[in-house]
Amino acid sequence: MQIEKRVDDVKAQVKAWRNEGLSVGLVPTMGYLHEGHKSLIDRAVQENDRVVVSIFVNPIQFGPTEDLASYPRDLKADALLCENAGAALVFAPEDGEMYAPDFSTFVDMSGVSDELCGKSRPIHFRGVCTVVNKLFNIVTPDRAYFGEKDAQQLAVIRRMVRDLNMNVTIVGCPIVRESDGLAKSSRNTYLSPEERKAALVLSQAIFAGKALVAAGETDGDRILDSMKAMISAEPLARIDYVEMVKWDTIEVHHKVDCPVLVAMAVFIGKTRLIDNFIWE
Ligand code: AMP
Repeated sequence: MQIEKRVDDVKAQVKAWRNEGLSVGLVPTMGYLHEGHKSLIDRAVQENDRVVVSIFVNPIQFGPTEDLASYPRDLKADALLCENAGAALVFAPEDGEMYAPDFSTFVDMSGVSDELCGKSRPIHFRGVCTVVNKLFNIVTPDRAYFGEKDAQQLAVIRRMVRDLNMNVTIVGCPIVRESDGLAKSSRNTYLSPEERKAALVLSQAIFAGKALVAAGETDGDRILDSMKAMISAEPLARIDYVEMVKWDTIEVHHKVDCPVLVAMAVFIGKTRLIDNFIWE
């Protein structure tokens, strides 16, 4: 497996694969890889001749008070996971390789990116769309893989690809959880043992909300109220949002009468965690 830091070297390798008629899959990540990322890589390896994993903590998707500086990094361990999963190339650029000092072009979106995380992280999806667009231009993948863990991000990327006529198929992959239910996340490493226990309240509320819908409840407010009550009972938890939206447009919606996304962001101490379920 190759590890490349330079855009031109990735482009040259992809060109060589293309000349051989090989298909290419891309898995964009911020590194500190876990089983959730691995599930995306596994799927990509099944469906493509060559798989590129990008590892880049994208500075322009972090707000000024967010965790850019402390975000966990371990390129050695990440490269090993990628190699064992069958990736062909890891693209791990430095910030300067991706953003010239006078970089000034962004991909902006409205609507799909306005609610949920878009509300609490105003510049986040502009940064995500911009970097994913750049990665698509560098790697020119046939398929790109994103987790439903970041469900709004998946909807945003699908909208960008549709709106800008990008030649890539977006593949969504289910959330991978710890055995006790907590959604796997690189940010779980921030949690103290006490916070790790408290963090279970997210998945417990997700499972409870999903069970209500499965039992026939269609009233969005009743579903959200019961989930919020569960979370509020945990002293270390502070709700950022718990919302129901239409799954395709991410518009706030109050009834389970179409595919919906029920999504939450909750602070456990200083750590902001997200979780969700999709009901189609
Ligand atoms: P990140 O490194 O957090 O930016 O995540 C990179 C990709 O992995 C995104 O598409 C995420 O949605 C996906 N991902 C992260 N955690 C999980 C998980 N627990 N299950 C499935 N996909 C995940």
